[in-house]
Amino acid sequence: MRDIAIVGGGPAGSLCGERLASQGFHVTIFDERLAWEKPCGGGLTHKAIQAYPFLLDAPQPKKIVRTAELISGGGHRARFDMSHPIVIYARKVLNGLLLDRAVAAGCTAVRSRVTNVETDGPQVRLTAAGEEFCSDFVVLAAGARNQLLPETTALGKLDLELTLGYFIPTEEDIIKVKFLREFEGYIWSFPRADHLSVGICAKMGQSSSQQLRRYLDDFVRAEKIPMEGARLYSHVLPSPSEHTIQRRRIAGANWAMAGDAAACVDPITGEGLFYALKSGDLLSQALIEGQPQAYPERLRAAFSADLEFAARFARKLFCGNFLGGAITTRMVQLLNYSPAFRDLIRDVFSGSQDYRSLKRRLWDQLGITFVEILHSVMSTPIASPSPHPAGGRDPLP
Ligand SMILES: Cc1cc2nc3c(=O)[nH]c(=O)nc-3n(C[C@H](O)[C@H](O)[C@H](O)COP(=O)(O)OP(=O)(O)OC[C@H]3O[C@@H](n4cnc5c(N)ncnc54)[C@H](O)[C@@H]3O)c2cc1C
Repeated sequence: MRDIAIVGGGPAGSLCGERLASQGFHVTIFDERLAWEKPCGGGLTHKAIQAYPFLLDAPQPKKIVRTAELISGGGHRARFDMSHPIVIYARKVLNGLLLDRAVAAGCTAVRSRVTNVETDGPQVRLTAAGEEFCSDFVVLAAGARNQLLPETTALGKLDLELTLGYFIPTEEDIIKVKFLREFEGYIWSFPRADHLSVGICAKMGQSSSQQLRRYLDDFVRAEKIPMEGARLYSHVLPSPSEHTIQRRRIAGANWAMAGDAAACVDPITGEGLFYALKSGDLLSQALIEGQPQAYPERLRAAFSADLEFAARFARKLFCGNFLGGAITTRMVQLLNYSPAFRDLIRDVFSGSQDYRSLKRRLWDQLGITFVEILHSVMSTPIASPSPHPAGGRDPLP
């Protein structure tokens, strides 16, 4: 297999193409837009930077953010410094960087929409702009809206989130994440080099886009974000169910999916950039070794099993209760009271804490957290009756 066609020049397709071309494969990347401002937060966690350090070293404009603030449904706030910064790119810049690297490695980038893929002959046949192309293998990295489905099924409503947001030309230095009551999703504000990406995500079918826009506009007003020049965006985001991660077919004899097309997204945080890059990378390695059939198992070992675990408790995290209050509210409160819990959340944010060992770590440090809360409560003067300002502590039950 030497001739590889890649549909989609986003992070998954570009990195896969770069790795294959640098090993002498003949790679053509088809993308209907090439580098574009895909609706996205653009945030890369530490695990992405660790795996792909060029994302930090590249001279392209980016924002390096070290502080985050979580806001509960009731307005409680906790601000903390992250153990590793989050690196935030505008997507046009990030996609351009990745595509340039792919082309420099030897890929041919074609600006064209692929409308059909057939994988049942001796060669793969693709149709783009009315022309037919042949290849030995096709990588489908066409994102969450991918309609090219040889021998597999589309992502259903239960595997998708609706997102809505604004690109706002203003400056900010911290990441904000706000939870809403009984709501499977959240609002984010991600500062970029010269603007903010503010948005909301929610399970498909849970809220109408009008409702989401109202929640988002309330947030923007409450945070006093100036809206001059704001541009609205909307897109779907995979949020795969446990069943889909386990069962959905993502590869065949001469085709494989990567990134959003393969639903490689964290069902809790919506992080997809790392998983897009990693899946493209793993697929290229399997192809280079002449073992494309090993790709799904390698994906599972690298991260799918962890995402499956996350899918199991996503709803509980957003909508469940603990000690008589929402879990997300208790989380925000614990951040203010317990340094051990704060360290744990810092690691979750940086991506160095996986979900499967999170439960054990929570149990292991339960005693410490409890002592820290007691100590904190006993050393805090009797609370004033007025609500706490940003960063202040809220009484625990
Ligand atoms: C609102 C929002 C916010 C997000 N924020 C974050 C974040 O902060 N951090 C994070 O890690 N992840 C985030 N994500 C997820 C992240 O954007 C995706 O996981 C990531 O872009 C997936 O990369 P990909 O290469 O698989 O697909 P994409 O980036 O979607 O790239 C697919 C490419 O395929 C092309 N294409 C599609 N169909 C065709 C076709 N038929 N023919 C030719 N070309 C085609 C498109 O033009 C596109 O360039 C967010 C997603 C959304 C929607």
